[in-house]
Amino acid sequence: MTTHDYSAGHRGWGHDYVFRPSDDTGQEATAQGWGRGIEDGDFLLLDNGGQPTRYYVESINYYRDPPDMWSAKLLFAPRPSNCPDCGEPDWEMYRVAERNFILRKTWKCGHFREAAA
Ligand SMILES: [Zn+2]
Repeated sequence: MTTHDYSAGHRGWGHDYVFRPSDDTGQEATAQGWGRGIEDGDFLLLDNGGQPTRYYVESINYYRDPPDMWSAKLLFAPRPSNCPDCGEPDWEMYRVAERNFILRKTWKCGHFREAAA
């Protein structure tokens, strides 16, 4: 999976986006933007008042015309953090339930934290 940088200083003609939160928790959002090569499962770094904020691309669809324009469904995905139990420095995020939206951070050591939105 690839991380695409749309943070401050990396936005411009043909590489920009419009962001729309789709719930009150900030966990889910949609965005429309421009730029080729983004796939489901990639990450986007978006500009949050000058700070890069990471989102997971749950699904993305490119328009037929113009072909570099996309519409994506995003999940808030803070950048990797160390496991609070043993310090393992990586985690994966995935959607556990369709209706009850749950974020589960799982580190490679097997420890995890859940937070229901
Ligand atoms: Zn651990």
